[in-house]
Amino acid sequence: MLLRFLLLYCFCLPLAFASNNLPDLGAPDLKDYDSHTETQLGQAFSTALHTHYDLVYDPIMLSYIRRIGEKITSETGKNRNFSFFIIDNPEINAFAGPNGVIGIHTGLIASAQSEDELASVIAHEVAHVTQRHLSRTFEYQSNVNTASIASLIAAILIGSQDPSAGIATYMGAMGLNIQQQLKNSRIYESEADYFGIKYLNQAGYSPYAMGEFFGRLSKEMQIYEGTPPEILLTHPVTANRLAKANDRAAQLKTESQLLKSDSLTLVQLRLNFVTKTQTQTYNTKTLSSSETCYLNNLKNLSDQGLSRPQYDLSCLKAASEQNPKERLYKLLLAKIKTETGDSSALQDYEYLTAVYPSDFSIVYLYAKSLISFNRTQEAIQLLTQKTPKFHYQYLLYSELSKLYAEKNQNDYSYYYDALANYNIGNLPKSTFLVNQAEKITKNKKSKLYQKIIQLKNELDKISQKQQRNQPS
Ligand SMILES: [Zn+2]
Repeated sequence: MLLRFLLLYCFCLPLAFASNNLPDLGAPDLKDYDSHTETQLGQAFSTALHTHYDLVYDPIMLSYIRRIGEKITSETGKNRNFSFFIIDNPEINAFAGPNGVIGIHTGLIASAQSEDELASVIAHEVAHVTQRHLSRTFEYQSNVNTASIASLIAAILIGSQDPSAGIATYMGAMGLNIQQQLKNSRIYESEADYFGIKYLNQAGYSPYAMGEFFGRLSKEMQIYEGTPPEILLTHPVTANRLAKANDRAAQLKTESQLLKSDSLTLVQLRLNFVTKTQTQTYNTKTLSSSETCYLNNLKNLSDQGLSRPQYDLSCLKAASEQNPKERLYKLLLAKIKTETGDSSALQDYEYLTAVYPSDFSIVYLYAKSLISFNRTQEAIQLLTQKTPKFHYQYLLYSELSKLYAEKNQNDYSYYYDALANYNIGNLPKSTFLVNQAEKITKNKKSKLYQKIIQLKNELDKISQKQQRNQPS
């Protein structure tokens, strides 16, 4: 539960706008933590998410969230790391952790009425990162209670075998200073709205979406008198905040808007089939015929009890033709073809890989399809070739590791598992796995062995750097 507190802390502190002045942005006396410390915290945080939380690994949903995230981050003008994850949690919430790790709850995805609304919350979290709110809070904390914070940060960063446990310890003690955090956070929330709306607009979304989304959630809460969604507890909506958000939007010269697509609705329809906790209620009357077709085929796909599911491929083909820019129909069609043994699915995936070369989910699904047609060697080749160019590699390298394990090539299997863990910042596990791989690799002249040594050296370098930075 301590970790849960961390999430609330990092991102979503209560706010109330006290001042009408623009926040003081990056005052010169702010000393935040250095980028090396931030990288380490980010790795520990990302590992904690992957080991203590239910993440949604549905490649199509992840890829969708990442596409929105990339549109926004490319407008920040800052060269920073960002990674986006989906948390299987029905509470409406989102958060930004250290080193640009951003988490989106499934509850948030379910409650957005447009991609603009979903993007507005992502933009707000991205702004927390670009404005270095977490590190600035950290510095402030250090001044308030230097001894305890310094020792806690050390607990995470120094030779910790379980960094996520360190994170939990750290956050437990942060609770001591909650009052100070609250004072600080008003400015940060205001800044996050200010910059978030700017990024949103530049990315081609409606700059009014943030005010609309928060306004609607707050109104719904009053009507139903229920417990407010988490995001409102941490980001209370005041009339002042909404007015400021609208003023901000009105000041901006509206960029040309993105072409609207169906993607959000289709992604919301997936929630019932890929998460444990999210039950999305959808009104089938409000779905278009294409969306209804998507839903019915998804239902059949997930109903393992049926010996011969009744897929409706003709409506799916029609939906795909009517929505030529929407890749989700084509992907579902290829998936169903795979399930029913129609190998023309492979041509579909090949085409989609060419049209959307930066979409990791298509490569992943293409590989899965190859595997189901017993073309494992080609799946291995595809994953080995394509994975290095994606920022998010965890799913792809994990799949490669699994494939090699099935072939009893444990040296390769350990190596790719090490890479998968390296990608999500789990360095202790990556080190353990790469050592295993080294031990069992017989041919010391092989390419694999060279790669193993390369990764080992990389991990060594990081660990030496961490030891050098230990406070004495
Ligand atoms: Zn916030």
